Amino acid sequence: MNSCERARQILQQAFGYSGFRQPQEQIIECINQGEDALVLMPTGGGKSLCFQIPALMRPGVGIVVSPLIALMQDQVAALRQVGVAAGALNSSLSAEEDVQLREQLRNGELQLLYVAPERLMTASFQSLLQQIDIALFAIDEAHCVSQWGHDFRPEYIQLCSLHEQFPQVPRVALTATADELTRQEIIERLNLEQARHFVSGFDRPNIRYRVSDDSSNARQRLLRFIQQDYPQQAGIVYCLSRRKVEETAAWLREKGVQALPYHAGMSAQDRADNQNRFLREDGVVIVATIAFGMGIDKPDVRFVVHMNLPKSLEAYYQETGRAGRDGEPAEALLFYNLQDVITLRQFVEQSDADELHKRIETQKLERMLGYCELTSCRRQALLAYFGDELKEPCGNCDTCLHPPQTWDGTVAAQKALSCVFHTGQRFGVNYLIDVLLGKVNERIRRFGHDQISTFGIGEELNQNQWRSLFRQLIAQGYLAVDQEGHGGLRLGENCRPLLRGEQKLQLRRLRKESPGKARKKISSFQGQKGELWEALRAKRLALSREQGVPPYVIFHDATLMAMMEFQPQTLEQMSRLSGVGERKLEAYGQDFLDVLAEYDDSKASVTDTVTESLDLFRLGFCVEDIARRRGLKVSTIQSHMAKAIEQGLVELDQVLSLDAALLEQARELMLAQKDEIRLGPVHEALDGLLDYGQLACIRGDLNRRLES
Ligand code: ADP
Ligand code: ZN
Repeated sequence: MNSCERARQILQQAFGYSGFRQPQEQIIECINQGEDALVLMPTGGGKSLCFQIPALMRPGVGIVVSPLIALMQDQVAALRQVGVAAGALNSSLSAEEDVQLREQLRNGELQLLYVAPERLMTASFQSLLQQIDIALFAIDEAHCVSQWGHDFRPEYIQLCSLHEQFPQVPRVALTATADELTRQEIIERLNLEQARHFVSGFDRPNIRYRVSDDSSNARQRLLRFIQQDYPQQAGIVYCLSRRKVEETAAWLREKGVQALPYHAGMSAQDRADNQNRFLREDGVVIVATIAFGMGIDKPDVRFVVHMNLPKSLEAYYQETGRAGRDGEPAEALLFYNLQDVITLRQFVEQSDADELHKRIETQKLERMLGYCELTSCRRQALLAYFGDELKEPCGNCDTCLHPPQTWDGTVAAQKALSCVFHTGQRFGVNYLIDVLLGKVNERIRRFGHDQISTFGIGEELNQNQWRSLFRQLIAQGYLAVDQEGHGGLRLGENCRPLLRGEQKLQLRRLRKESPGKARKKISSFQGQKGELWEALRAKRLALSREQGVPPYVIFHDATLMAMMEFQPQTLEQMSRLSGVGERKLEAYGQDFLDVLAEYDDSKASVTDTVTESLDLFRLGFCVEDIARRRGLKVSTIQSHMAKAIEQGLVELDQVLSLDAALLEQARELMLAQKDEIRLGPVHEALDGLLDYGQLACIRGDLNRRLES
């Protein structure tokens, strides 16, 4: 077996996954060949396997440098669940445990060791390392080495010496923070000049981005968002201040949401308790300042809400990135208002940072604002900011789903761009606006800009409108901000068509409510299906309590959903589900089969002929095929499916794909009837657009909803 095959075998047997994601396999191969690697991959992309699998394949122990204890413990717990000998060396160990772990290490009994950077660099640990075989060094959250970044950890700087101490051992540095500056810094500080680079796209397609520029009554809308769209689901709500954290958490609790506060002003014990409950219980909402979250790799966080504007797109992307690591649908909702902008500006102004840093921070804030005011796809803008390109609008952000009202800003934009050009492409927004508005001040006179053609040509907009326009031009790349951080603007590469009038520019108008429509979600199983879902979750919670690990360490939501979808009846069938490896199959397979069998009774309430149609449907046959195979009429099979839908055994949209408006119309007609729903009148009212079989399915679905 060659090493690629071996890697795939481990993936399947231990982790229960059927194939690698891009570019996991190449990274594993690179490390297996003893080369260094720099891995940039979005959160949830699957970085861990990239070093875990080579560590299992190469002789010796894989040493993983990780900045946070909570994160280490969860990863170690998850590895032990799949049968890997893993340990963590950090300050939470007792002296005895510490000795024991070192002993195991010396005896070659460990496959993976997680260690905090400050421990790794102690003299005693370094000499221990000299005595053992090391498979690799993985430096997780490698951006912590960057002094510019927001997670700087001084201990990371010393990691550069690993290279000199252990020149033979391959090193892999991993991060989800993308920007070029940080990347360069990681390479320099960690001596990774020779490393191969693996840069994945940074898109998180399962996260829906929404921004509400109307923050009146944000708290009430937060509550509605949680109750309607994500009841009983885990989420994070970020607030700017401690006071707001406390108030919001208390208020949500009053309204029946399991919300817990988290901020730096609380005692370490209270913070740890709340974090643990968030990790270990189902459906806890944590309300926090940005002090919370680094190193939280809970996979089933369904939403991240910002009650205030984040200070940069980097921070926003990192914080929202904590949603949906498991790849299931998740949502990022941001409320912002002008007061936030003022507050954040004051933070910057009053900070002790030098001028250069202040300027950089101000610019980052501008970019964040530009993002909020977009009229085009948010994901495209976000990815562009991180140097990534998305060709088509995403279809999963608020501007794609509900295009905002706009005005034609073409002429105003041309004025702005030409003002940038005629002043020499080096002035900042304030100066440019003064020129456009025709203000005479000492500087403008000194540069002679009161004499140029664009002086005073912009009086149709006020200062704020111009600011908004400039931000949108920056956000869309028509203008670029200088690299040195002086805030000077120059023309962007794509501004020519706009200047020549070959392209129009639509700008965003302030909007009232920002509507978000619920979509199919994990939480929305209903009827029989909902009960099974709850039963599977309850089983998982019970097992996780027994083992003292978070529920998702037993199985992810995605695996539970696969159980619902495929209804395995034997261990062999169970083993084919994603996320079920050998060890977990052995440990938990039967437990979950029992739960499934219990709920399979539901089938007894429908007749055999319905079951037979349903089974064929589950095998992938369409209604017409089933009718042909069974020698029955299509309408008969449709009536079977209608029963199955009513029982919650299959979803309406799996059976029929209907025009949404037509479906809505049919539902309304049905709901308008009293008592029993009759199909005849609906058929007639819709001019026969839907046949009886289709209507029966819609009625089945409606009945089930009404029931639950
Ligand atoms: P990251 O560290 O990049 O944020 P993780 O390593 O935690 O991401 O992986 C995110 C999730 O994706 C985990 O639940 C992991 O089990 C899952 N995963 C990783 N690789 C695969 C794969 N090849 N197939 C299926 N699931 C995977
Ligand atoms: Zn979009």
